[in-house]
Amino acid sequence: MKSNKKLIEILRNISKVIQENKQFLTDLDAAIGDGDHGLNMSKGFKAFDEKVLTLVEKDCGSILKTLAMTLISTVGGASGPLYGTAFLKASIVVNGKMNLDNEDILKMFEEMIGGIKMRGKGERGEKTMLDSIIPAYDSLKESFGSGKDVVQAFRTATEQAFEGVEFTKTIKATKGRASYLGDRSIGHQDPGATSSYLMINAVYETLKK
Ligand code: ADP
Ligand code: MG
Ligand code: MG
Repeated sequence: MKSNKKLIEILRNISKVIQENKQFLTDLDAAIGDGDHGLNMSKGFKAFDEKVLTLVEKDCGSILKTLAMTLISTVGGASGPLYGTAFLKASIVVNGKMNLDNEDILKMFEEMIGGIKMRGKGERGEKTMLDSIIPAYDSLKESFGSGKDVVQAFRTATEQAFEGVEFTKTIKATKGRASYLGDRSIGHQDPGATSSYLMINAVYETLKK
């Protein structure tokens, strides 16, 4: 199967997982934020689902760009522009490509992380989505470097993203709304780190089929 078709399958599965976890993500955000993360994400991905049929013959860059613009225009709150920027940056490195290799995957992650850092002025360890995405990226890089196949690589990356979510329970938020709580944010897992983990896991689940 061509990567552009696979990418669409992955994004549809991400959307499905986001819809299934809408309440969970919202509950996590209710504890340390304003209780809308699941609503925001589900709204954005639903809007993307409505466009997906127009994308089946498109290249990977166009697909990701459509997702990015959809998230930026439909998702309120911090996560819309952050994820939107991430996917927009990723779209640029795969512009015009119908097939993706491991090198492309790493470059996409690098760009996504760079985009989130730039837009949110954050770093790893601030209790955000970066705390699950960066460990996943590090793990993918190591796995590809040691010759693991893409499915194995994403399985380990998913585990590392999950560890990252667990780690967010132990630290205080210094970015986003949760930072208003200061030390009281400790003990809660970050909603955005959780949605990132769910997305990375959806990539793995789709690839292993
Ligand atoms: P809002 O906080 O505006 O209501 P959401 O609830 O949809 O937006 O998203 C909150 C999530 O966004 C947080 O859990 C965190 O992971 C992420 N986030 C917030 N600010 C930043 C930032 N500056 N950098 C990276 N991620 C951030
Ligand atoms: Mg919120
Ligand atoms: Mg909000």
